[in-house]
This record gives sequence, C-alpha cells and structure tokens, in this order.
Amino acid sequence: TDIKELLLSRIRDVADYPEPGVMFKDITPLLADPAAFTALTDAFAEIAERTGATKVVGLEARGFILGAPVAVRAGLGFIPVRKAGKLPGATLSQSYDLEYGSAEIEIHAEDLSADDRVLIVDDVLATGGTAEAAIQLIHRAGAEVSGVAILMELTFLSGRPRLDSALRGAPVESL
Ligand code: IMP
Repeated sequence: TDIKELLLSRIRDVADYPEPGVMFKDITPLLADPAAFTALTDAFAEIAERTGATKVVGLEARGFILGAPVAVRAGLGFIPVRKAGKLPGATLSQSYDLEYGSAEIEIHAEDLSADDRVLIVDDVLATGGTAEAAIQLIHRAGAEVSGVAILMELTFLSGRPRLDSALRGAPVESL
C-alpha cells in the first residue's frame, strides 16, 4: 500500500551497527519527514481507537518519540516505560533476558488502573523481549493490553509468537 511504501522509503538500513553483523533500522529519516511522521501517527492512532485503548505506553526511547503524538492525536494519556532507575516515583520492575545478560524496565504503577486498556508503542519488534516485559508490567499493574503497535517487525527473530502467548488475545499490529 501507499503508506507502507512511504514509511519503508524513510527507514535507513545501517550495516554493522551497533556491532558487526547487525543491520540497524534507523527511523530518523522518517521522523524528519512530516508527511511520513504524520502518516505513522495517524495509523497508530487508528489502532488505538480500533482496539479501545484508554492509554498509550511508549517504550524507551524511540517508543517515546512515536507514542507521545499518538496519545495526543487519539485523546489519550501517555505513560513512559523506562529503563531501570530513571523514574522517580513508586515503580513496578520487570527484567528480561538479552542475548548476553539481562535488562530491566519500569513503569509508574499509579499511572495505570484496573479499567485501563493500554496500547504499547515502539519502533522495531526484534526478539520481542522488550515488548513482552512491557506486557507483563501492564498485566502486573492490573490493566489490560489493547494491542501492540510497531512500525517494523523483524520477522526472522520471531518476536510475534512470543508476544502472542503473552497477550491474552490482543493483536500485534506492525505497519
Ligand atoms: P527486542 O526486545 O529484541 O524485540 O528489541 C526491540 C527493542 O530494541 C526496541 O525497543 C527497539 O527500539 C530496539 N531495536 C532492536 N533492533 C532495532 C533496529 O534495528 N532499529 C531500531 N531499534 C531496534
């Protein structure tokens, strides 16, 4: 479709970044193009509305850039999921495994209530570890996930089946 081609044309492949053998998907050309950034925001806002979201959660750091305008466009609140140690209030924490070692993300628990339905927003779905941990955080806060909205999915890393088994039926939507 037209939007898919527009978005793909604004994503830059960077070889051997951040380490040899990795092809990094760089979204900064998309952010710099107002037509592409607006099209992406509108498409994610439509997913928020269609899935009945009441809040938008963005995953640090590119999920903040993409998620905040979606929240404003859809008329919803925005909640950051941050790397451990960055949020000043009472947090819930979730750790998850990386290829080497582990990582931990956090959310301000008081920002979510039991009747919230959360749309999780990020740029790239790779192994799914980060998004799966975010789903677990939201469930532990007592809220539901309305869906996961992703710009780009690296299908060869099989993140989607991992999210599907955590999601209680909510959709993973990659553009
Ligand atoms: P995962 O946890 O393995 O699914 O990795 C997803 C996280 O790493 C997301 O927060 C992405 O922003 C980031 N990420 C992984 N690969 C890329 C990439 O090629 N471009 C931009 N971000 C990436």
